[in-house]
Amino acid sequence: MKLLAEGARRFGLTLTPAQLEQFRKYCDELMEWNRRFNLTAIEERDQIQVKHFLDSLSLLTVWRPEGQPSVIDVGAGAGFPGLPLKIVCPQLRLTLVEATAKKVEFLRHIIALLGLSDAIALHERAETLGRRPPYREQYDLVVARAVAALPELAEYTLPFARVGGLVAAYKGPAAAQEVQEAEFALAVLGGRLERLVRVEVPGLAEERYLVLVRKVAPTPAQYPRRPGVPRKRPLTGAPAQ
Ligand code: SAM
Repeated sequence: MKLLAEGARRFGLTLTPAQLEQFRKYCDELMEWNRRFNLTAIEERDQIQVKHFLDSLSLLTVWRPEGQPSVIDVGAGAGFPGLPLKIVCPQLRLTLVEATAKKVEFLRHIIALLGLSDAIALHERAETLGRRPPYREQYDLVVARAVAALPELAEYTLPFARVGGLVAAYKGPAAAQEVQEAEFALAVLGGRLERLVRVEVPGLAEERYLVLVRKVAPTPAQYPRRPGVPRKRPLTGAPAQ
């Protein structure tokens, strides 16, 4: 896990031998499960360290936990960015939401294997879970990577954030354009753009950005809409076709 350890140092993080061992096990399992099921397109050990682990940890350059914050990762897939954040910051109270059963099985396997406490993986769609009282407007931080364009993603994520909480969307080179397109959705759902930050991920040539959205007002009760609707009709302000 040399690339990970060195890259993390550039983020100001010193990973302990125990944390590096957790990442090594996670990487081994991801590679093993990938041989059987298609969990992620990234399969090489070096690539996993950079594109999955370090990219996930890049949030810690702009956000650090205070106390024991509640965090939800929406569309977690094989666990990114939620699980790397949890390994480095064990005090997080982490919920992972994922719509694909096989991926949830993998997430539960990793949580047990690494002995992560206060971490659960739920097999649900964000649109359904975001309407349920134990989850709605409860979280200090909502994270999501590679799930949807921002107007749609805003509807999956903002309902989970408590008023005063934060949504962090991991984005590529189109981040600024997506922010513009999401202006209406953010306003409707109770969000306000706080920062669009370019992050340098060691070893990654691609431009990476974090879109940080503050929850400034409760999300109106009609959102999120039924599963599939945010994708079909994202909140853009344009009249429905
Ligand atoms: N966040 C992970 C990452 O960055 O590696 C996974 C990215 S993957 C491209 C997108 C994931 O989001 C898929 O596993 C998909 O099942 C999940 N997903 C998409 N829409 C969702 C929804 N509405 N609710 C829950 N999960 C969703």
